[in-house]
Amino acid sequence: MTSNFAIVGAQHVAAPRGILQVSEGATKKEEKPRKFQAIRGTRDILPPETTLWNRVEQTAHEVFATFGLGEIRPPIFEATELFARGVGSETDIVSKEMYTFVDRSEKLEPQPLIGSMDVFLQRVKQLYKSGEIPQDEIGLELVEKQWKKVNDLLKGASSIESGAIEIYELIMLFEALRLGGDVSLRPEATASVCRAYIEHNMQQLPQPVKLYYMGPMFRRERPQKGRYRQFYQIGAEVLGGPDAPAIDAEVIEMVMTYFAKLELQGVELSINSIGDKNCRPKYVELLRAELQRVKGKLGADSQRRIETNPLRVLDSKVESEQPIIEKLPRIADHLCEDCATHYAAVKRQLELRGVIYRENWRLVRGLDYYMRTTFEITAAGLGSQNAVCGGGRYDGLVELLGGPPTKGIGFAIGEDRLILSLQESGKAPAQQGRDVYIAWMGDKAHATAIRAAKDLRAAGFSVELPPIEQKFGKALGQADKLGARYALILGDNEVSEGLWSLKTLADGSQQKLTEPDLLQFLREQKPVSS
Ligand code: AMP
Repeated sequence: MTSNFAIVGAQHVAAPRGILQVSEGATKKEEKPRKFQAIRGTRDILPPETTLWNRVEQTAHEVFATFGLGEIRPPIFEATELFARGVGSETDIVSKEMYTFVDRSEKLEPQPLIGSMDVFLQRVKQLYKSGEIPQDEIGLELVEKQWKKVNDLLKGASSIESGAIEIYELIMLFEALRLGGDVSLRPEATASVCRAYIEHNMQQLPQPVKLYYMGPMFRRERPQKGRYRQFYQIGAEVLGGPDAPAIDAEVIEMVMTYFAKLELQGVELSINSIGDKNCRPKYVELLRAELQRVKGKLGADSQRRIETNPLRVLDSKVESEQPIIEKLPRIADHLCEDCATHYAAVKRQLELRGVIYRENWRLVRGLDYYMRTTFEITAAGLGSQNAVCGGGRYDGLVELLGGPPTKGIGFAIGEDRLILSLQESGKAPAQQGRDVYIAWMGDKAHATAIRAAKDLRAAGFSVELPPIEQKFGKALGQADKLGARYALILGDNEVSEGLWSLKTLADGSQQKLTEPDLLQFLREQKPVSS
């Protein structure tokens, strides 16, 4: 019996809308091709803005290297379980905002159901054995039983429809098998960096291991200014070694140095200590008890958080709750001696480094493994989403992910917001500059122009060489529009004379120079595009 019925039910691929579909004999009315747009919460970053992005990233490479950090590039997707553990399964990020999908094993890609089922089951068995299909998923026996039912039915059936329900159930079972397991687009990178630290035995390297990363993160948040579903972070993690306060202070000093180098405006650093597993639970209980007393005056969100995560109440921006929150017990008054000493030393270390900070007792992190130092940096021009960087110490995280007890501290900078703030304060280039526009006319001039472009580009200049001949007037207008600094004018006359004309577009002045003199003159200028 043969059929081209395929087993993998989830592989139904809808015909793309707008593509002409021709069914037997009948031609459908031609539809206009669909116009695509970037998906909500994602966007294209275009020139000249990308020039600013590159500068921001290049400066990070430079500044972080001066502090001895090396770059890590973790994958964009990882096991969902890693984020559930690393970020916390009860956080909004993990419970609501992750882009999660089932990564089907390639080895089980569509197989004809009828006839080759035994081969297929054999494969499933192998994949169970090798662990590629998680053992805790639907049992193999159930699949085999259902297959047998389908097979029996089909043996006696004249048409495939009579076994349709069983076949459907079998497909559903395979669906449920979740072949390959759950993966998610990363909502942040700290968990990945810790996973890599463990996977590559980095605890055997000189400690601490200092790593930084940059790249896209994904969270299904409600998009607004400064908040996207695909956004970019530049972050760093310092793993291993002691929890010396000097490490915390140096990490903060590094971000502040970086922001200063970028001339970011209105930078404000807030710090706090949130204690550790000795003192924080007692404080949380005290806070909870106090919140219970004032529960009636709080909004629904805060009321709910009294039970789930009372520290998060301190984050509340609800106007009417502010006077109540201000009267709540403060963690600084409840730190154990070790934490209080550590916090005092971090502050002293920041002062030694000339880093200006303010303390904000309401700056907290809801996850258990965050401890002691937390910090946040805000910048100008960002409205309500004004945090450009968040960071803190997380000494328990590596252990939580199956590694050895390891100290850790890190931060993540929101690159989109950093860029927005720089743009708001006029730090963005208005246009992607060109150094030289070569206006040429005539065949001989074209050949010379090609050679000149090659020489100038090799010397690092950004050169625009028009692909087709155009009148000098039009070419100069184009050079102006592109914001070129110089126009090199090459006609056949100039080429035969061996004297080239160079026009400075800012003031309209023009000079005639020999090829070597002209190249020399340009080389003495700094390329605008660098
Ligand atoms: P978090 O990883 O949540 O601590 O965030 C660190 C930084 O990343 C924040 O201070 C923001 O600057 C930035 N950030 C977080 N979520 C988003 C988002 N959805 N869109 C843009 N930037 C974000």
